[in-house]
Amino acid sequence: MIFDERTERRKAEEWEQGNSTETISLSEIADIAAVGLTYCKDYCSSRETVGQASCYCVRARFPTPEHYQLYLKARHEYQRILAARIAAGTIGENYGTQND
Ligand SMILES: [Zn+2]
Repeated sequence: MIFDERTERRKAEEWEQGNSTETISLSEIADIAAVGLTYCKDYCSSRETVGQASCYCVRARFPTPEHYQLYLKARHEYQRILAARIAAGTIGENYGTQND
């Protein structure tokens, strides 16, 4: 498949409208927040065109930008709690910190 920048921009704009009727549950968002979303490993033609926050890797996982923002908050909170627990010595250093 040939990457089409115009189509990609249109799809990103549609996604940014947040009109998708698809949904994702809070527990699914929490699950992703626990492991971290893996996206844009190396070169990402979608990211190059529309930017990190709207790239295909994000759109494929979250139906709307609101869901993505919720994930970012949940991920931040998860890492904060994790860091506190590591500091308290209750868990090992390598637990749950992959995929960042
Ligand atoms: Zn990407």
